[in-house]
Amino acid sequence: MDTSALHNVPRNIGWIEVVCGCMFSGKTEELIRRMRRAEIAKQKVTIFKPRIDNRYSAEHIVSHSEQSLVSQVVDDASEILELAKDAQVVGIDEGQFFKLNLVDVCEKLATQGKRVIVAGLDQDYRGKPFEPMPQLLAVAEYITKTLAICVVCGNPADRTQRKTQQQDRVVVGAKDVYEARCRRCHQVPNE
Ligand code: ZN
Repeated sequence: MDTSALHNVPRNIGWIEVVCGCMFSGKTEELIRRMRRAEIAKQKVTIFKPRIDNRYSAEHIVSHSEQSLVSQVVDDASEILELAKDAQVVGIDEGQFFKLNLVDVCEKLATQGKRVIVAGLDQDYRGKPFEPMPQLLAVAEYITKTLAICVVCGNPADRTQRKTQQQDRVVVGAKDVYEARCRRCHQVPNE
């Protein structure tokens, strides 16, 4: 999406933007970039992330390339409604780690006139849609799918390969646990 087009949108309506893709595709960098642009325009911005993500920093969202912004940690998406009430732009990172009520929260925020930007994994390590991201994609006005580069063959990658044998859907980690792979090189573990 060309976000520069958004400057032409009237300020009194809200909407939902989703930035999704596999790990190492630059989702968080893109979220940070959009939030910074809004800050430069002196809009009131606030960023949230779920408590499950303890990588690197408790109070910042940090991309793998180490850009960071101050964020608030919440246990449940419903807390965002109160915490974001004065914000014009609401950023949410690691959307896939929230429960399904994130969709309702984002819809309420957008209906209140806020710009809502959610970054998250659209697929789990098996390549299956990672709730609540598919539901968010269905109700979002703007969708950006970021691609990484397959570490095996160099083609565009949209899948996250887990390098360990753990079977839990959520295993927090970075390059020690995951790598980006294309459809052809992605290996789904045995059920
Ligand atoms: Zn590949």
